[in-house]
Parts: sequence; structure tokens; C-alpha cells
Amino acid sequence: MSALAIPPAPAPTSRPRLEIDPSAVAANTRLFARRAGDAALMAVVKADGFGHGIVEMARVALANGARWLGVTSLAEALRLRESGIGAPILSWLNPVDLDVHAAVRYRVDVGIPSLQHLARVTSQRPARPLRIHLHLDTGMARDGAAPADWAELFDRARRAELEGHVEVVAVMGHLPCADQPGHPSTRTGLRALLAGVALAESAGLRPTLRHLAATAATLTDDSTHLDLVRVGAGLVGIDPSGTARLAQAIRLSAPVVQVRALPAGTGIGYGHADVTDTPTNVGLLPVGYADGLPRTASGVAEVWVDGRRCRVRGRISMDQTVVDLGGAPVPPGTTAVVFGPGHDAEPTIDDWARWSGTLPHEIVTGLGTRLERQYL
Ligand SMILES: *Cc1c(COP(=O)(O)O)cnc(C)c1O
Repeated sequence: MSALAIPPAPAPTSRPRLEIDPSAVAANTRLFARRAGDAALMAVVKADGFGHGIVEMARVALANGARWLGVTSLAEALRLRESGIGAPILSWLNPVDLDVHAAVRYRVDVGIPSLQHLARVTSQRPARPLRIHLHLDTGMARDGAAPADWAELFDRARRAELEGHVEVVAVMGHLPCADQPGHPSTRTGLRALLAGVALAESAGLRPTLRHLAATAATLTDDSTHLDLVRVGAGLVGIDPSGTARLAQAIRLSAPVVQVRALPAGTGIGYGHADVTDTPTNVGLLPVGYADGLPRTASGVAEVWVDGRRCRVRGRISMDQTVVDLGGAPVPPGTTAVVFGPGHDAEPTIDDWARWSGTLPHEIVTGLGTRLERQYL
């Protein structure tokens, strides 16, 4: 080749690819809309749509039976509005100094978990009543108002309604152990929510929506569905209850950028955490923990190269991962599948979660921003 030759344009496989299959999200959405029965389906698209893209996820879900969108911040809700989405949106993890005027202007419902939040809303005197969902702690000791505060919260919310600052449209809670079907805390949580609604009504409130269930409870306990279910993980194929057959939508692949033959006794990567005991060939992948591959999966995780599983050798680095090709090196440029929906023998996000001692939720929401999402 002449020194002046212009290199050919890189083939599409020459960079890591994060492919997302909207038809899998569509199929999961339809499944949850059916399971929800008479309850409305809220598609929870927080954390950039569980790493699958907030706007794309929202559009697919709304086109396949979801009627609401759920997020944890007003910024996410505004992003959805700016992309032209008009469906009802609830944001439930709001700071006490939430911009009430923006929420009203962009028609975003907000979760109110405390007396302080309510007081700050009313003191901002919104131009129109802010639509609020009173968020009760039904057993999480996390978000939501403590039971001891409910009566006062309802009384003050009713007063704020009469003054025209808010409209209480819903009472909501959340369940701690719904991934374990039959866990007693699910029934306790449901009872607590219904008791809360009764107390709200006795304070003069008329919430039209009661909501409690997320993915796991929607799949395993119809009594929790009430008027609306909030489903996030399930839409991207994650079932914490292990009871449904959902479609995974995501596939991460990367080209092998370099192949090396290593003799026995070679330390691989930082810290020489792994030393070859026999001669082998290794391939280098241009993805690492900055892309979301958990470093704790070093040495145990596998990728799929050329029809076979190849184990990660040494520590996963920020941008690079070494995999063992054994006695059969592949040409540089060969595609390695890091994880996929599992239609072939490739690893899945569940495998990566197991290898790193976490949940598939953490794998998908930890995927790095430099991975370009491509929608099939
Ligand atoms: C994240 C979240 C959901 C969605 O939970 P999934 O298990 O992902 O369906 C629902 N409600 C609340 C309060 C949440 O924080």
C-alpha cells in the first residue's frame, strides 16, 4: 500500500455499538397494559429511560398502551414536553424548592411527599392549581410522608385546594418487597395506602387515582393495581419477580481492536490481577467501566466472539477490556457481543448483573453516555 493511500472509511462495526430494539419495548408495554387490566399504565422513563433513551422509550410506550409517563425530576419532564410529548406526566422526587410555575406551565403533575413541600408549593402561588399526587410512605422508609404526618398533610392539602393553589389528583405509595410474591409487606402496604385514601377523603379530598404497584407488583399481585400502575424496569425486559417472560431490548457490541499471543506466566492488565497459566491468545475490546461494564465483573464476565463465550482476563479498565480467545485467535475487527437479548448464546444484562453482584437495573442505567444509542 502506498504511504499516501487514504485509509478506507471505518466500517460500521469499528466502534462500540449500543443497539436498542424498540419492538421489544413495544411488546413489553403491550404485555403490561394487558396485565394492568382496568388500571392505567404509567411508563416510568426515569434514568434516561433505564438507559434506553427517555424520549424514545416514552414514544414507544405511549404508542403501545401506556397512558402516563413517570419521571423523578421536573428536568426530565420538561425534556419530554420539549420533544413534543403531550401525555400526562408525573414527577415524584422533587426538591422542596421545585419550580412550581414551570410545573404548572408545562402541565407536569408532581409528587408531594411532605408538609414542607406542600408549604413551598402554596407559597409560590401558582397561576393555576398545581396537580399533585400525595406521596405516602407505605413501608419503604424512603420517599413519601410518614404515617404520623398524613392527617396534617391531608388537612393542609385540602386548605391549599380551597385557596386554589393545588388540585389533589392522586394518592400514591410504593412497595418494598413486591419482587417476592406473597411477601406480607405488600398486603401491609396496600392496607396503608387504602387507609390513607380514606383519611384523605375524610379531610374533604377527592383523589381520582390511587397508585402503588411498580413492575413486580403489577406482575404478581392484581390487588395492588388500583387505578394506575407505574412500570419502568419491565418495559425494558427486566422482571424482578422472575415470573414473566419479557423481551430485552439492548445489545452492546464492540470490535476486537487488537489480538495478542501471550506465553504462560504473563500478567494481564493493571495490578497483574490475572496471570496466564498456559499460552493463549487475547483480544482487546474498546469498552470498559466508563461505558458501564462493572469492574467487579473482572475475571469472571464473558463476551461472545465468533460463536463462543470468551472470559474477561485481568481487570476491566476504564476504556478497555481483555478477553481470552484461547487457541483460536480472531482477526482484529471481529465483533464481540458484550451482552444482548439472549437470542443466541451471548451473555445478557442478567448475566452481567450476576457476575458483578448487582441488579440488571444497575447495568442498564450505568451504561456510559459515550456509547451512542442506535435504534433499530
Ligand atoms: C422507579 C420507580 C418505579 C418503577 O419501578 P420498576 O420496578 O422499575 O417498575 C415506580 N415507582 C417509584 C416510586 C419508583 O421510584
